[in-house]
Amino acid sequence: MIVTAESEAQQDISDREAILSVRDLQVHFRTDDGVVKAVDGLSFDLAPGTTLGIVGESGSGKSVSNMAILGLHNRERTTVGGQILFQGTDLAGADERTMRRFRGKRISMIFQDPLTALSPYYTIGNQIMETYRRHTGANRKQARARAIEMLTKVGIPQPERRVDDYPHQFSGGMRQRAMIAIALCCDPDLLIADEPTTALDVTVQAQILDLLRELQAEFDTAIILITHDMGVVAQMADDVLVMYAGRSVERGSVREVLGRPRHPYSWGLLSSIPHLGGDVNTPLRPVRGAPPSLIDVPAGCPFHPRCDFTDRVGGARCRSERPELDSPTGRAAACHLPAETADRIFLDEIESELGIGAES
Ligand code: SF4
Repeated sequence: MIVTAESEAQQDISDREAILSVRDLQVHFRTDDGVVKAVDGLSFDLAPGTTLGIVGESGSGKSVSNMAILGLHNRERTTVGGQILFQGTDLAGADERTMRRFRGKRISMIFQDPLTALSPYYTIGNQIMETYRRHTGANRKQARARAIEMLTKVGIPQPERRVDDYPHQFSGGMRQRAMIAIALCCDPDLLIADEPTTALDVTVQAQILDLLRELQAEFDTAIILITHDMGVVAQMADDVLVMYAGRSVERGSVREVLGRPRHPYSWGLLSSIPHLGGDVNTPLRPVRGAPPSLIDVPAGCPFHPRCDFTDRVGGARCRSERPELDSPTGRAAACHLPAETADRIFLDEIESELGIGAES
């Protein structure tokens, strides 16, 4: 069972005004082979203090969309269209100078591999201090005190001594904690976490997720959690966005999307992971085929070459007509299957095969 109960408190939070509104985001790269439509019409809202899990296979546009939010795309080869409204400022067309005012201070990011994200030449303390001083104007003494305070918050033992260590003197889990300390030292409103626990073993992964939840509650930070791991989403997220071929194909609360998904791609993602309570003799079913080239996305529904349910739609509609999300806000799926039909297929054919239940 991977579905967590959605608390009333979470419902209250999701009613709060969005801190980030992404509308029809498009991120296209020019390459020698053609234009790569890495993100092609992505929309979502994020409220303060809540977590949005973005899931999908490699190349689905998860990381690229968030690099665009941070303005870290290659500006010479990339076109960014649509809107990225962050606290009222549209970051989609913002220049590098504007982005520097936001990046690191109001929007921070943590990456999958802290060893490559941290500089090996500077102590952990110096790297926190540099970020803090750049954005707050604090002096060295104040910044060092902040570095020790942040290392304490993220659970580094003996922070007064370890603040002078270099990254290679920290374990993998401690380096990720140090990355979180850097990311949160300026008390950002939005944290983008790109596969933050993928490189860690399961025990350390659980500790890091606990830590992120604690710090989120303390700082009221909104989090975008990019992951391919539905288990991490179930533990951490309030809402989920499933991406395929640069578009969102399903979104809703964790309970809705993991408890009763409506898009065949979401069914495939759930069928490809083991479930507690599932029959150990039931083989995992990966989504067949491979994601499409983003230079030449199939006409109609981009998922149709891999979908086992086109015959339930009738005719050649899946091959000729691109489905849009069936609701502009909240719960939605981009599939020609009517919602009631999708629910029935999930309950009768998918859920029973997985051996999981939607109740939690
Ligand atoms: Fe499958 Fe058709 Fe739905 Fe696309 S629109 S997911 S091809 S049933």
